[in-house]
Amino acid sequence: MHAQKSLKDYEFWFIVGSQFLYGPEVLEIVADRASKMAASFDADAHIPCRVVYKGTVKTNEEITRIVKDANYDDRCAGIITWMHTFSPSKMWINGFSLLQKPYCHLHTQFNRLIPDKEIDMDFMNLNQAAHGDREHGFIGARMRMARKVIVGYWEDEPVRARLGSWMRSAVGCSVSRNLKVVRFGDNMREVAVTEGDKVETQMKLGWQVNTWAVGDLVREIEAVTEAEVDALMEEYRAKYDFATDNIEAVRYQAREEIAMKKILDREGAGAYTNTFQDLHGMKQLPGLASQRLMEQGYGYGGEGDWKVSAMTHIVKQMTEGLPGGTAFMEDYTYDLEPGKELSLGAHMLEVCPTVAAAKPRIEVHPLGIGDREDPARLVFEGHPGKAIVISLIDMGGRLRMIVQDVEAVKPKYGMPNLPVARIMWKAMPDLLTGAHAWILAGGAHHTVFTYAATAEMMEDWAEMMGIEFVHISSSTDIESLKKELFVMDVAWKLKGI
Ligand code: MN
Repeated sequence: MHAQKSLKDYEFWFIVGSQFLYGPEVLEIVADRASKMAASFDADAHIPCRVVYKGTVKTNEEITRIVKDANYDDRCAGIITWMHTFSPSKMWINGFSLLQKPYCHLHTQFNRLIPDKEIDMDFMNLNQAAHGDREHGFIGARMRMARKVIVGYWEDEPVRARLGSWMRSAVGCSVSRNLKVVRFGDNMREVAVTEGDKVETQMKLGWQVNTWAVGDLVREIEAVTEAEVDALMEEYRAKYDFATDNIEAVRYQAREEIAMKKILDREGAGAYTNTFQDLHGMKQLPGLASQRLMEQGYGYGGEGDWKVSAMTHIVKQMTEGLPGGTAFMEDYTYDLEPGKELSLGAHMLEVCPTVAAAKPRIEVHPLGIGDREDPARLVFEGHPGKAIVISLIDMGGRLRMIVQDVEAVKPKYGMPNLPVARIMWKAMPDLLTGAHAWILAGGAHHTVFTYAATAEMMEDWAEMMGIEFVHISSSTDIESLKKELFVMDVAWKLKGI
């Protein structure tokens, strides 16, 4: 794998606001409690990254210094603030105007209950988050900051789960800002939605999207040794069932996997694309090879779709350790039984086996598209469960992320002659309304299909990256969506990119 960090390599800085008004004893208690809270978060199974208490800040200078340090430190993926006491928020303006990392405002208090007999004015002065956090919230609103607000008692599981979810989004932000995408050739001719402004996208999301010649990939494929192929075939035999006698076709995919991985790792890239229209010198369209690379965490997009490829990688990184799997996907065809309408999702070859319900089979079949030899591929069914589909589109002047809630079901049919991996799902609120909404919003035919990420996680990510977010859910209705899209179009034009 390329030099990708794991979630535990990222730190979140817990910064507690106060002031000098209350005397040193109060500040000592605040610091002691804050470090206990940070240590407790750090040890919690819901919290996927490190949490480090970075101090109780009391002045404009301290706040500005800590924000500068957070910006500069590559381990720091975001800051979490909480006002144990009152912290006048004009002190935060200079620091916050410099902040370049994701920001979460945790609104909680150290004690769960009011101590009936003990409460006096000393207690009141120490435990002021109820109004201290309001002063802090105002400056976030006044400065129009992208922020996550989490409200609840700090020991409660829902608070920790939401904090953990937001951290995953923040890691996605860091991954995005460092992501390189290798395009083997261009995108499919005449296709609109796979186009996009790569300069604008790099300014907004950080992605470095560049092209590598297919001829160079072919040279790399030809340089792979028989011993390297033998070793990888061992791994294939351990992980998958072989439902083919055409071993040479499988060996060629192993060659392609090894060659593409070498190039991606050499370039430090986390995602790549190819297209069946640009395979000059390659014997097969990579099928098994692309499925295998996705399984290892690389992003992939077919037909040169670099946006979906990058998002696949980012979502895989964000959801490390969560069950369910994440795959490149395409709505292919529908089953329109009235009231029970379903989508059948698949691709020509390339669906990631992390979403498989059972052990995938390696099969070799002809491919009508691309004019090459029969490619080997993994064939399997996706598993049932709640999931989302994600599409990122370029609206011209801005990016829009569309997320739809879906529910995958056990595929209704066996489909014995369908030679590709497949998932069947119900789109929310129902397929007909959901597809209507998707088309109005301009969602692509390619998506990231993920059981592991949630709509909230993607919404948080979109807010951190400063892009538009549209959610199609069980409560979506067409009339309100049309109004939302119209209003957002005007708002984003006023806002500028
Ligand atoms: Mn496609």
